[in-house]
Amino acid sequence: MDYQYIQTERLDDGQILRINLNRPTARNAQNRGLLVELDHAFLAAEKDDQVRVIILAGNGPMFSAGHDLGSEESLRERLPGPDQHESFKGNGGTRKGGENRMLQEWHYYYQNTLRWRNLRKITIAQVHGKVIAAGLMLMWACDLIIAAEGTTFSDPVGARLGMCGMEYFGHPWEFGPRKAKELLLTTDSIDADEGYRLGMITKVYKGDELAEKTLEFARRIAQRPTMAALMIKESVNQAVDNMGFYNALQACFTIHQANHSHWAECHTEGEWKGYPAALVEDGAEDWRNPKPTRPALKDN
Ligand code: ZN
Repeated sequence: MDYQYIQTERLDDGQILRINLNRPTARNAQNRGLLVELDHAFLAAEKDDQVRVIILAGNGPMFSAGHDLGSEESLRERLPGPDQHESFKGNGGTRKGGENRMLQEWHYYYQNTLRWRNLRKITIAQVHGKVIAAGLMLMWACDLIIAAEGTTFSDPVGARLGMCGMEYFGHPWEFGPRKAKELLLTTDSIDADEGYRLGMITKVYKGDELAEKTLEFARRIAQRPTMAALMIKESVNQAVDNMGFYNALQACFTIHQANHSHWAECHTEGEWKGYPAALVEDGAEDWRNPKPTRPALKDN
């Protein structure tokens, strides 16, 4: 597959594969093409017995600004026409109403993220700049997360879209339950040091050393026997699944769909008819011109 939105790089005789999100001018916003290419690259790396560790990074000023909701490119790939992306022609894409949305989001936002989380290889997210909303989903799907100093993490979809977070609801597990509520209700952000303190972030390095230090760290992991590495990953993932992680994700995906359906039902006429998220007149902030996020500090 020729990739348009990502780049892959084989390092150390293919033992380490680096995937770079490559829409720098769009701040690595995730359009459908990018998500499908990313899935292809992850599955190809999983199939390749030479690969031991995968690094997921982003080119440009930030790791990822979240789902691409409004760019011309994302509209072209969604709407019928010569540029419509193949993935809109199946997996619910030709069905109506909530069934369409639920199936499409299940395949291209939720189940793909869960598949990457359960990949039979060790994965490391290498993040910098800002990680916003669905950017968190990509990062959380990885086993380890390495951040540049000053990286910030936020999910403003509650304020800007009237939504209860994203399709893959890792928030309570990653931030802790009370912090998850605070961040989702306020849009406030935490930084890499706070993420480290919460146990979400593995290491924090200076920005100009991030790629090199992440590679050094990946090389340490790549030295482990592959069976030991996989059993360590699987033991932790199965422990967390038995604590309810998997069932909670499934339940919260359903809640997410109820949230979308509410807004779609509220919008009965005009150009926004059926729009499945809150608008300014519903009390949402204008996501094209949003208020800046604030640091979630104890005295702020
Ligand atoms: Zn959604």
